[in-house]
Amino acid sequence: MQIILASQNKNKLKELSTVFQKKLSKHSLVFPNKVLNVIEDKETIKENAEKKALEYFKFYNLPVIADDSGLFVEALNGAPGVHSARFSGEDADDEKNNHKLLDLLQNNSNRSATFKTVLCFFDGKEFLYTLGELDGEILSSPRGKNGFGYDPIFEVNGKTLAEMTLEEKSEISHRKNATIKMVELLNEK
Ligand code: IMP
Repeated sequence: MQIILASQNKNKLKELSTVFQKKLSKHSLVFPNKVLNVIEDKETIKENAEKKALEYFKFYNLPVIADDSGLFVEALNGAPGVHSARFSGEDADDEKNNHKLLDLLQNNSNRSATFKTVLCFFDGKEFLYTLGELDGEILSSPRGKNGFGYDPIFEVNGKTLAEMTLEEKSEISHRKNATIKMVELLNEK
């Protein structure tokens, strides 16, 4: 079976496709020729991933895997969560989002946070979902130049994700964990 990987961001595609291509035994991955502009307006990352999978399936009529992710901060009751990309408003960018998060957490001693990714597979008949998580701590100021999003303020074992190479990050990432689980489900099909 050929499966379309519905993802836009280059770093994310690389993270996802490396694991899929290494481990997927019965199926092959294809990248979309045309990237669809799917509005991620649902209340959960699971629903957004499902919406993306449905829209890509409608367009390509091929089995699809779509993803959605977010950063869930314990002291903020799970914010920014599903709103991670636009946390600081319509003109949000990574720097503004990080700034807003650091401001909100200013004197809070609870720095625990979790990145989550949901992957959704849809082949026109069946939905499969997997969840991947990465636990860490939010720093009080950014460190590191790599990666994207909240990477410079998210620390795991003494290093921020922005201080890791893409290979190092991909080894532990929420996306990798979700991908490994999805590969297991698909290899059973
Ligand atoms: P997406 O659904 O994967 O595009 O993620 C939504 C938003 O969550 C991104 O725009 C980032 O702000 C944040 N995010 C998701 N994954 C990561 C990550 O691996 N590092 C840093 N930020 C991330």
